[in-house]
Amino acid sequence: MPGPDPHALWIESDEPPYRVCFQAYFWTGNNGNRRARANAILRRLYHRDWVCRWCGDDLPDYVRADALYCCQGCRKRGARERRKARADMQA
Ligand SMILES: [Zn+2]
Repeated sequence: MPGPDPHALWIESDEPPYRVCFQAYFWTGNNGNRRARANAILRRLYHRDWVCRWCGDDLPDYVRADALYCCQGCRKRGARERRKARADMQA
């Protein structure tokens, strides 16, 4: 699934008070999706949940609002670890 437009949204402040901004559509004014994404990211920031599940770093602002990992590398390392744990359990 393609990621969202990388330049349409940015995290202005990643410590309280959190602030997530997005580029409004100029002509159409259909900002529902970007606003929803900004709100979702904001909600995760407040829950201290905007961090990579593998390396624990803050997630970059160009990933999906429901992303769990900061990059493919972390996602794959996480998957490898889970696979290994599963294999160890069966052995
Ligand atoms: Zn990471």
